[in-house]
Amino acid sequence: MSVPAEIDGSDVGPLGRLALSRSAVDRATQRRSDAEWIEAAWADPRTRVVVVHASQALGRTVDGRPELVFASAADAPAGTRFFLGLDDDEVAYFGVSAPAEAEPWAWSSRADAELLSLRVAGALLSDRDAGLLTHAIALANWHDTHTHCPKCGAATVPAPAGHLTVCPVDGTEHFPRLDPAVIMLVTDPEDRCLLARNALWPKGRMSVLAGFVEPGESAEHAVAREVFEETAITVGHIRYLGSQPWPMPRSLMLGFQAAAPAGQQITVDADEIGEARWFTREQMRAAIDAGELALAPTSSIARRLIEFWYGGELPDGAGAWTAPAR
Ligand SMILES: [Zn+2]
Repeated sequence: MSVPAEIDGSDVGPLGRLALSRSAVDRATQRRSDAEWIEAAWADPRTRVVVVHASQALGRTVDGRPELVFASAADAPAGTRFFLGLDDDEVAYFGVSAPAEAEPWAWSSRADAELLSLRVAGALLSDRDAGLLTHAIALANWHDTHTHCPKCGAATVPAPAGHLTVCPVDGTEHFPRLDPAVIMLVTDPEDRCLLARNALWPKGRMSVLAGFVEPGESAEHAVAREVFEETAITVGHIRYLGSQPWPMPRSLMLGFQAAAPAGQQITVDADEIGEARWFTREQMRAAIDAGELALAPTSSIARRLIEFWYGGELPDGAGAWTAPAR
């Protein structure tokens, strides 16, 4: 008996199934502690490997949609290995974090292979590939940045399944780290939506507000604190809507809706926010069509929150989102 790879569609909440919250592979967590089984699965010629290079992996376009290109275990480059799960045919999937100097195309003979990122390809991949790539990038980024024991400083050793590391000196176990972050759809009594431009973004690129949950703080408090710090707007009626991982490098995005009482003046924190303003649906659509507003990519929970409020899909707008988006 294993946990279903996919959550029932009725259980995912008001935002529906988010691009990076999908999966079609059973994580088979009960296998992780069985080193013999893990070794046998790695040696199985049917095994498929997602090779991660700096938060990207090789893919190719088939019928207009991207899909992952897997390595065999024999062809995969050396690097930290981790078990991702099993599909319905009992095929095992692993990830390998390739070393920085590795040539991404070296192990593949495919001429049409290209590097895929979650930002660009996340919403276009199949459920299986979206889940595998998100899981693999998250673990690769953790292994790449958590190489030593936080207690004694010794180099840690990944467990056979790569889901934890162990300190050889004091025996402590270390698990993957996540940074919880809140991202919020703020509306006013006229049902307008608050968008802001990060001070580092070019003009025209705006999104919903977001920020990290601090130690000892609830997610709901973080919503109210971040909105107030960045725009001087107070909010209430804070309601959780849904979540998705954003493993660049290790965020878990918690999506909320919050209501701002009427009669408040926006005052932005100029160190963080370039500008912030309310949009009606008509204003938002007109700004996008005029090339004056570009939204976050469809793989992001930011985009889903805005479209949840808007009541349908919106175009990207001019100006690509090349900077990190949430
Ligand atoms: Zn240690």
